[in-house]
Amino acid sequence: MTSHKQLFVDRVQNYIGGKWVASANPEYAPVTNPATGEPLGSVPMGSARDVDDAVKAAKAAFPAWRELTAQARAKYLFALREKMEAHYDELLAICTQEHGKTLEESKGDVRRTIDNVEVACGMPTLMMNAGQVLEQIATGIDSVSVRQPMGVFGIIAPYNFPSMVPFWFLPYAIATGNTVVVKPSEQVPFSQVRLFQMMHEIGLPPGVVNMVNGARDVVNGILENRDIAGVSFVGSSPVAEHVYARCGATGKRVQALGGAKNFGVVMDDCDWEKSVANIVDSSMGCAGQRCLALSMVVGVGKAYAELEKRLPKALESVKVGYGMEPGVTMGPVISARHKEKVLGYIEKGVAEGAKLAVDGRHLKVAAHPKGHWIGPTLFTDVKPEMVIAREEIFGPVVCLMHARDLDHAMSIVKAHPLANASSIYTSSGAHARRWCRDVDASMVGVNIGVAAPMAYFGFGGAKGSFYGDLKGHGREQIQFYTQNKTSIQRWW
Ligand code: NAD
Repeated sequence: MTSHKQLFVDRVQNYIGGKWVASANPEYAPVTNPATGEPLGSVPMGSARDVDDAVKAAKAAFPAWRELTAQARAKYLFALREKMEAHYDELLAICTQEHGKTLEESKGDVRRTIDNVEVACGMPTLMMNAGQVLEQIATGIDSVSVRQPMGVFGIIAPYNFPSMVPFWFLPYAIATGNTVVVKPSEQVPFSQVRLFQMMHEIGLPPGVVNMVNGARDVVNGILENRDIAGVSFVGSSPVAEHVYARCGATGKRVQALGGAKNFGVVMDDCDWEKSVANIVDSSMGCAGQRCLALSMVVGVGKAYAELEKRLPKALESVKVGYGMEPGVTMGPVISARHKEKVLGYIEKGVAEGAKLAVDGRHLKVAAHPKGHWIGPTLFTDVKPEMVIAREEIFGPVVCLMHARDLDHAMSIVKAHPLANASSIYTSSGAHARRWCRDVDASMVGVNIGVAAPMAYFGFGGAKGSFYGDLKGHGREQIQFYTQNKTSIQRWW
């Protein structure tokens, strides 16, 4: 295993125009391992000036990058893919140490990062198929539509998938001929630092990818910069809404993926053993800090009582601890502040009258007293109007509700303003079909709790979980990063 010193840099820098440079703002924030409390380094609280420098570099690099053949651009991604595979274990260790998720969970994070690079390697064919051609639209006249890159794109990420989320966007943006400015989450900057080092090492031309670290000043710098053609954002819904509004005001394209409250509806004809195990994984994975976490479980008819009986027992199988250690299945939450927020929701649930059937508030991990631990927590008897049912908790807290029948369950799910992902557990094809057709969420699971589309399918929610038109990765991403040009040609 690579030593700790090699994995983390003391002071994170920005990457602009092919060089590592200090931020214009001298203010830095510490980054610590959320399981051990060990300092990992510090991150600059970048400013709009840093963004402007990065955008200048990206804008300068665009003409030559656009001029390369699609195949030449894809070759860089092939090289990056090889590099990432060669340093796979390092990427896992960084992800687990900065975020707190287990090594097994980091495999999901890093593997999906690589998957997106692999899909973007096929860009020559994908982009070719995104165009259209028809000869003889009138006598002697042909028409050709092509997709062209647009310039500089901004990419803004949340903390919960330090490696993967910027790569839902970056490979597609650059493979289609654009250049980018990435703002990682200030809470987990190191995975992106390592990935940017790799992009430097493969010789990506200066300015094609740039990174500015920091928090809201960097985001607002991106939103206000008129040389940015579009923004891909992932984070909570209030910030997604702000990003969407400012991009509209400053004439940018935008895809802003927001928060979630995902429902798992359980019919009493489900496979009980497999379904309950899957619900535990889906709600507790990454300590509930997943936009696809099943945080709401609805027991339909007799299924409610069965879940009330089975879930507390099943949650006992979750082993909380430091994700670098073997046998651990759930890590800490990201920070002391976030822990307070989650505990506040648990207090609220108790005060609202939900029954706290499993209480994770007092869990301790003896070997790591500085970790931000919360144990698996289960509320039963939850009502749709309760705050714990309305708002995203983003911690290891699962809420169990009762519905009379599938119609009633559907009405509860449809009434919620967020609609990222939702799942049904059933052995009935008729129930499953109805669910897939009628539920509002745009990522839908049948006997699958975390309904995460692979890199070649679109990723993103609906209603208050998504602001924009075109979703992340897959074919829609090619549309997002390119504009259409139609030529109508007559040759005398
Ligand atoms: P967040 O909204 O706090 O932060 C997201 C990004 O926005 C960060 O880079 C942050 O620096 C910046 N930011 C935060 N507050 C800002 C403000 N007021 N103005 C401008 N920029 C601001 O989200 P988070 O806590 O990092 O991540 C968790 C959230 O992300 C959850 O709501 C989760 O559901 C969501 N998420 C959604 C998806 C999805 O696919 N829909 C995927 C992952 C995470």
